[in-house]
Amino acid sequence: MKILMVASEAVPFAKTGGLADMVSALSINLAKLGHEVKIVMPRYYSIDRSKLKQLPGALGVPVGCGGEEWSGVYTTSMPGAPSKKPVQVYFIDHEIFFGKDGIYGIPSEPDFLDNSRRFSFFCRAAFQLCRKIDWYPDILHAHDWPAALAPVYLKFAERIPASAGGFEKTVSLLTIHNLGYQGIYSKDNFAYMGLGWDVFYEAGFEDWSMLNMLKAGLYSADKINTVSPNYAEETKIQAHGFRLDGVLRYRSADYSGILNGIDTAVWNPAKDKYIPQKYSAKDMEGKAKAKEALQREFGLPPNAKVPIVGMVTRLTEQKGVGDLFGPAYGSAWSICRDMDLQMVILGSGDPWCEYEIGSLASRLSNFRAKIGYSEEISHLIEAGSDFFLMPSRYEPCGLNQMYSLAYGTLPIVRRTGGLADTVENYSETSGSGTGFMFEDLTPSAIYNTVGWAVWAWYNRPKHIEAMRLRGMKMDFSWEQSAQKYIELYEKEIEALD
Ligand code: ADP
Repeated sequence: MKILMVASEAVPFAKTGGLADMVSALSINLAKLGHEVKIVMPRYYSIDRSKLKQLPGALGVPVGCGGEEWSGVYTTSMPGAPSKKPVQVYFIDHEIFFGKDGIYGIPSEPDFLDNSRRFSFFCRAAFQLCRKIDWYPDILHAHDWPAALAPVYLKFAERIPASAGGFEKTVSLLTIHNLGYQGIYSKDNFAYMGLGWDVFYEAGFEDWSMLNMLKAGLYSADKINTVSPNYAEETKIQAHGFRLDGVLRYRSADYSGILNGIDTAVWNPAKDKYIPQKYSAKDMEGKAKAKEALQREFGLPPNAKVPIVGMVTRLTEQKGVGDLFGPAYGSAWSICRDMDLQMVILGSGDPWCEYEIGSLASRLSNFRAKIGYSEEISHLIEAGSDFFLMPSRYEPCGLNQMYSLAYGTLPIVRRTGGLADTVENYSETSGSGTGFMFEDLTPSAIYNTVGWAVWAWYNRPKHIEAMRLRGMKMDFSWEQSAQKYIELYEKEIEALD
């Protein structure tokens, strides 16, 4: 199959979040399965042109009413892809749109004023690129709102006969990574997009007199999906739908969820270069060493008997930090005061939360925190903790709970999004499960569930051991997810025939 990924981010070239990891990991794994994958993304200022190869000539991209705008194209191959099936990455180089710091914005202009033009231009350029290299994909796979117009252009402008240089045999898939970002701008920008006003309504751009790029993509793509099956269900209801639940219900026959994988070369206790001693389900000695090192790192008294609850997180409302650290009502204070445990957290984000965490650490002897970002410490927390807390309000997929399971660290999670798909709740009677779950969006639900986990630690040690091993045996590899994407692509191609 020929697959074109249209995305605004891909590691190692540009990254603001999990989207960038997913685009590259999925592409590499699809190539490993024997498919021909190419990625197209913008050439941001931070991507060094001198390390790329320039394609001869320039790319003319239709814009506005009969106009045309020009860009350069650079290319390189994706590191880590199989040498027999390289993944070629193409960069659309447009100085005015992309020759600036920041992917979507900068601190003084968090959402660039020309973002709708930047990314509509980028989406249209993807088609011109295919013409230029004479390569027509079977699948056009677009990611999130910046690439959401690619399926719109396919449906309303580019699905013309191949004899006329068209994409009649191409089908589209749009993946939602975070429904919270939709690309909503003034509809004054629509004229630049080069689509008729009939399309504005037919493609579903209209959003309370504004223009919504993600919404148009969701209406127009042949299939849509998100990064976990449970999140696909949740987003069809108002509470999780960010105002697009109606559109997702309307498209429900074509809407599904596929769980992201994890990088098992990096997040694997048997290979981890950041922990003092590697370990596996067969030999858990390294986990005890990691616990000791973690206690040392955070200045906690070394003690193998006391359970450690770890967290690595962005400190934002989505991650449930209000319920944990909210001044006067957050449950972290009472958890640490009432329970015989140690708690460590690594994170950065909202200033109020960073402040509250610092204040808690100064008042509690069993609570320690590091504010900042550290790959190394995040690995040590995953390996050295006994429990890993994720009280997320919503979680499209979530990676940390999968890392925890792989490291024999039991997740304590809210039953939402991908967390519900990956963690199985503990049963005291049978000892089954891989973690501890709760439903309510309240501080006391977190308090009670951490309490339940700590109770099991002291009173049901055999269950804890069995749960650890069960989690470590689970398969969250990308190969499995890539296979599911292939099945979805195949269904789409069949439907077109
Ligand atoms: P999200 O993408 O919503 O932040 P995920 O669980 O999907 O949540 O992925 C977050 C990733 O970022 C994980 O790999 C996590 O370990 C990492 N991460 C978040 N905050 C930090 C931090 N302060 N230091 C190191 N890694 C972090």
